[in-house]
Amino acid sequence: MSNVDAIIVGAGPAGLSCAASMSALGLRATVLEKANAVGSVWRRHYDRLHLHTDRGHSGLPGMAMPRSYPTYPPRAQVVEYLENYAAHFRIQPVFNTTVLKIARNGSRWRVDTDKETVSAPIVVIATGWADFPYRPSWPGSKTFQGNLIHSSEFRNSSPYVGKRVLVVGFGNSGGEIALDLANADIDTTLAVRGAVQILPRDLLGFPILSWAIAQKSLPTGLVDFINAPVIRLAIGPIERLGLKRHAKGPRRMIEEDGRVPLLDIGTLAKIRDGSIKVRGGIDRFTPDGVVFSNKDAQGFDAIILATGFRPDLRNLLPDVKDVLTQDGKPLVTGQATNGPGLYFCGLVASPTGQLREIGLEARRIAGLARRYVDQEASSVG
Ligand SMILES: Cc1cc2nc3c(=O)[nH]c(=O)nc-3n(C[C@H](O)[C@H](O)[C@H](O)COP(=O)(O)OP(=O)(O)OC[C@H]3O[C@@H](n4cnc5c(N)ncnc54)[C@H](O)[C@@H]3O)c2cc1C
Repeated sequence: MSNVDAIIVGAGPAGLSCAASMSALGLRATVLEKANAVGSVWRRHYDRLHLHTDRGHSGLPGMAMPRSYPTYPPRAQVVEYLENYAAHFRIQPVFNTTVLKIARNGSRWRVDTDKETVSAPIVVIATGWADFPYRPSWPGSKTFQGNLIHSSEFRNSSPYVGKRVLVVGFGNSGGEIALDLANADIDTTLAVRGAVQILPRDLLGFPILSWAIAQKSLPTGLVDFINAPVIRLAIGPIERLGLKRHAKGPRRMIEEDGRVPLLDIGTLAKIRDGSIKVRGGIDRFTPDGVVFSNKDAQGFDAIILATGFRPDLRNLLPDVKDVLTQDGKPLVTGQATNGPGLYFCGLVASPTGQLREIGLEARRIAGLARRYVDQEASSVG
């Protein structure tokens, strides 16, 4: 492993894309993965998950998703695709190897794993968000006697049959989990604290992502302005459902706040027919439920926090200066960083689809890495 050009941390979509893109440019890369298979996070997502982005815009560099897949492939096909992708590009990650710390060592990066220490001139951090579920705390949350989990622990509705369930947060996971519960006739309530943006998954017969990509070069304000009436028409008046439309348009919300709008796949219909009840934010927890911010108390047997993820890479890079924000997010991803030969892939939300963005970033990183290795070689020679 010591004579590789690059060490890639993580064998999810981002790590695999970087490995394939680097190999296409003649770079030798090793992928270190703590799990025992590629796409480990997709293997443990909830059962009903399908891609929210269409397969045409979700394939990784050099290998599209098969045409035999449906427009929005189920989770199992995403895993199958990642396995086939790794096999096609002969990517053989070193599994069961956790990267603990990355530090600069002369002109190379030293990578300490739980097995050994390795080094290379290039390191790509493609560790995703999954290890950083965000669990806000409310007064009294420790006293809650029911079942309290983060959405990343939710698998399916069966443990919740006959229970009163509160889903906190109305992003894509919250919306889909609430839908899953309501489909199983489970008493489901959604706590929605702030204003939201909701988009149809398809518009006029085309995936919404196609529209976003077509408008990519237009200014953000203009895009949100021209789309607003179309979205209103497609989604209908959400204010009547107890929801508030965000003052920022969908694209501005992603760009400025990193928040992805909800792509509706049926949750709104369930809210309209009363199968999912909408409440406001939570003021505090009680032993048997919550008190909402309007002071209404309600009992729940289970609470699912669909409150997102907040990656924090400070433990991985404790001594590397000027590459992370104060709270541990990469300052940039898919670009050169202040660490020579150090790159991050896939760690920010994108208005044109995360998997698509991962592919674009991977290609860019491979190009930058190739140039970096060549420059280092010529400066030594
Ligand atoms: C529920 C859900 C649905 C999504 N749906 C879509 C969608 O429809 N379309 C879309 O474009 N995007 C979607 N995304 C966003 C994004 O595309 C995926 O999260 C994608 O899997 C990100 O790929 P990744 O490689 O960056 O991270 P991950 O898939 O999380 O992979 C990271 C890998 O790194 C490994 N790892 C982490 N830390 C270490 C370490 N220290 N040492 C070694 N290995 C490590 C992990 O085990 C993991 O295998 C979704 C996200 C979620 C949570």
